[in-house]
Amino acid sequence: MGTRMRYDIAMKMERDYVCAVCWGRLEASHVDEVTSDLHCVNPDCAGSGFVTKRYAEKRRDEATFEYMEVKKKYGEQLGLTKPISAEQAMKDLGF
Ligand SMILES: [Zn+2]
Repeated sequence: MGTRMRYDIAMKMERDYVCAVCWGRLEASHVDEVTSDLHCVNPDCAGSGFVTKRYAEKRRDEATFEYMEVKKKYGEQLGLTKPISAEQAMKDLGF
């Protein structure tokens, strides 16, 4: 279960925010005519907080940059010399 709120607010949250835990997409579902349940669509996530999409994108960019810096400086010692995709880099960082 997610967070209950007015449906119109939930629709705006669904558009502009992501899950605070996994940064997954949010989904608003009707509870009744005016109330909605806003929750993360990731079935493995029990997160109930929200952050703006803009914040998540900024943190993701920072993490990618940090990963590239570490790889450049310590890639050989860490066994990161093989080329990997940005997707794999994020996975390795725990996102
Ligand atoms: Zn989540």
